[in-house]
Amino acid sequence: MAKTSIKVFEFLEEVSKNLSDLATTELKFLTDLKMKEEGDTSFGMEDLSYYIRIAEELQFNLDLTEVRQYFPVDLVLSGIFKILNDLFGLKFKEVKDVESWHETVVLYAVVDSSSNELLGYVYLDIFSRPGKFAHTCVLSLQNGSSSQGMRQIPVTLLISQCPKKLDEYPSLMRFSDVVGLLHEFSHVVHHICNRSTFSRFSGLHVEGDFVEIPSHLLENWCYENVSLKMMSGLNKDNTKSISTEMCKLLKRKRDFFLGLKLKQEILICLFDQIIHSSESIDIVELVKDLHPKVMLGIPLLEGINPASMFPRSAIGYDATCYTQIWSEVFAADIFATKFQDDLLNLHAGLQFRNKVLAPGGTLDSFNILSDYLGRKPSIRSFFEIKARNCLPFPNVK
Ligand SMILES: [Zn+2]
Repeated sequence: MAKTSIKVFEFLEEVSKNLSDLATTELKFLTDLKMKEEGDTSFGMEDLSYYIRIAEELQFNLDLTEVRQYFPVDLVLSGIFKILNDLFGLKFKEVKDVESWHETVVLYAVVDSSSNELLGYVYLDIFSRPGKFAHTCVLSLQNGSSSQGMRQIPVTLLISQCPKKLDEYPSLMRFSDVVGLLHEFSHVVHHICNRSTFSRFSGLHVEGDFVEIPSHLLENWCYENVSLKMMSGLNKDNTKSISTEMCKLLKRKRDFFLGLKLKQEILICLFDQIIHSSESIDIVELVKDLHPKVMLGIPLLEGINPASMFPRSAIGYDATCYTQIWSEVFAADIFATKFQDDLLNLHAGLQFRNKVLAPGGTLDSFNILSDYLGRKPSIRSFFEIKARNCLPFPNVK
């Protein structure tokens, strides 16, 4: 989607610049906090993670164990099915008596809710068990394709690690896993709604910096009152869904210290993009040069080489580390433009299904998004959404 490194640099620098005011406010909070705790006005990178954690503990009266009580697996699943039906016109129907690789695996047929046309199948292998592949992901078992009026039906598999109900222990999900599950369901929907003729462009065969945009988009439904209530219900009394206050706190927590956290990511993305688009580079000098520019001059400890501690999450994403931030930013644009004021807008959802998901890898994804939005994708909405949620930033009491 970005096509050139220059475009990636421009994007990262613009996002970093737009985050500077927020990150400066956050840094002031942390510096004041350190002053209060240690009587010390200096603040270095070695203080950052520690004081962000302390600040979160001070600011959020949110017990994640209590939050978990609102997310029994079966309720979360039925809520997700309802959202996907209301939003994209997709019905998930369980197929009984199917042979699979484990008794807990369930097969669903996905049909268009107005025409009843069979669109695809998804196997849900969502419960953890010993020896199972330990990641949460979506895999293609068969891509869709068409030939001479016949259609090969796509078949996909969602793997996740939900706890299985055990005697008196209910199967409850952590909130982060609820977000992760909805994220993966978005890949399922993308896979099944892809209508390209050739298998080569079907399934999730789309540009690497485009494939996560639909899933980042759908994550937003985990932070809105209406949709989060659809996926939640107290374990002991299903009629009690999560409170509006708790939902607000979860959303606020998502973006707490967003400025500094994203700037750290941007630093990694710039580093990654530079080392993979240059012939020879001194990585120690590169970090020394980039760090003060991106991280507001927060000093690094003397004698360390952060380039030798590249985060695990970035391994295997050579020159594509930027895709996470890229996807979040453009997903925010779609959310703000099409769904923010009407979360279950079937018209906008069907347009998204037909214009954005259906072409798969057959069209340029920048053009796909421009066509859907009626203009070029923009980074503006992302900052407007985050400013609403992050500001005013609290003072140290
Ligand atoms: Zn994903």
